[in-house]
Amino acid sequence: MKNNKNLLDTCRDYCTGCGLCGSVLNKPFHSDEKGFLYPALEEADRDFCSDVCPAAGKAVNSYSDGTIFGKIISCRLGWANDESLRFKASSGGVLSAVCIYLLEHNIVDGIIQTKKDDSDLRKTVTVVSKTAQDVRDCAGSRYTASSPLMNIESLIEEGKKYAFVGKPCDVSALRMLSHSGRVEWTKQIVYMFSFFCAGQPSIAANNKLLNALGCQSADECLEFDYRGNGWPGYAAVVTKDGKSSKMDYERSWMTILGRDVRRCCRFCADGTGEQADISCGDAWYLGADGKPDFTDRPGRNVVFSRTEAGDRLLHDLTAAGCITVEPYDIEKDGLKKSQPYHYNRKASLSSLKLAMSVCRKNFPLYDSKKMKGYAKGYPIKSKTLRCIGTIKRVWSKVI
Ligand SMILES: Cc1cc2nc3c(=O)[nH]c(=O)nc-3n(C[C@H](O)[C@H](O)[C@H](O)COP(=O)(O)OP(=O)(O)OC[C@H]3O[C@@H](n4cnc5c(N)ncnc54)[C@H](O)[C@@H]3O)c2cc1C
Repeated sequence: MKNNKNLLDTCRDYCTGCGLCGSVLNKPFHSDEKGFLYPALEEADRDFCSDVCPAAGKAVNSYSDGTIFGKIISCRLGWANDESLRFKASSGGVLSAVCIYLLEHNIVDGIIQTKKDDSDLRKTVTVVSKTAQDVRDCAGSRYTASSPLMNIESLIEEGKKYAFVGKPCDVSALRMLSHSGRVEWTKQIVYMFSFFCAGQPSIAANNKLLNALGCQSADECLEFDYRGNGWPGYAAVVTKDGKSSKMDYERSWMTILGRDVRRCCRFCADGTGEQADISCGDAWYLGADGKPDFTDRPGRNVVFSRTEAGDRLLHDLTAAGCITVEPYDIEKDGLKKSQPYHYNRKASLSSLKLAMSVCRKNFPLYDSKKMKGYAKGYPIKSKTLRCIGTIKRVWSKVI
């Protein structure tokens, strides 16, 4: 892969904005018109990108087990037993409960995670949480760009241990850096956690949501949340002059945020955190029509342990009474129906690649055999529609 002529162009075009090359190689980043950060890569960065960058495909090609949801040691339903945490969190609060457990049992010194940027609520910052309250303050999903690896090297203190929470692409880059043996400090990150992610919405999408909620700009907002405070909860703003408004999750995600995500997200081969020790998603109930039902309820996660260490940790949390878990069967309980976006995107990757090659565009460097494997059993009609739809989107410059 190192000799692939397109490698640097592909890594530029399909950059996830994780920021790891900013931290390790000191690469400068610039923002595009949508507010997404891109690095200025050079020939000298080729080997690093090949080893680490999600667009170079190493995680998928060398470490994916070829299935839609990736390697799973155990799959369960779960939620935090702390009711206030479960209520505030994005789904069932399992990720935050795990982080709090690690801090309170002195297993790690800090959790490197993402928090809302108080100076502009459409943006995020990376923080090192050291207390349960710090973790609570980060709970919930921020449906916007994040670059949690941008300064990670400077956050790691000598002799200390950390856990990291990030999007699947962030965890993938960090895990690949760790496998590459290029730096020593990744050994201090003893756990990596992730969540299901359908993509990073743009600043423009965030502005549109704010406008629909009656705010002309982020400056007017005292609070801006995307969901949580229930499950799924509401996209909600409170303005500085005390007005509040909200929008249900289905409308905010399906009609605004999810329509304008980063380019790489549309072609992502790992939306479910395959390189994490533990990864969580929304365990949506299914309605009578077999589609996810977003009626507000007490939150619950689908919880994957993906490593022995992650599985042991979940066992310890359950035994300590921090979380409740129940059996969940991916097939019988219908995870593909509960998370149709993830199934469709991954199963159609080879169709998307075909569409991009028809349009003479590059594509993340995923192995063709892997993509064919993901597409097994995926209806030809869906493949064709996805291919044609992508060609149309390229022609109309949507992607
Ligand atoms: C961009 C994005 C896309 C998502 N897409 C899906 C999806 O397709 N399917 C689905 O089931 N769920 C999706 N989610 C929601 C997420 O997968 C679930 O909320 C997950 O079950 C975790 O729930 P929890 O209650 O355990 O998390 P919590 O206990 O609330 O913890 C959330 C954790 O996520 C971190 N976090 C929040 N926003 C970001 C961000 N932008 N970047 C990095 N870290 C962040 C926080 O720091 C915190 O550690 C998405 C979330 C985000 C941020």
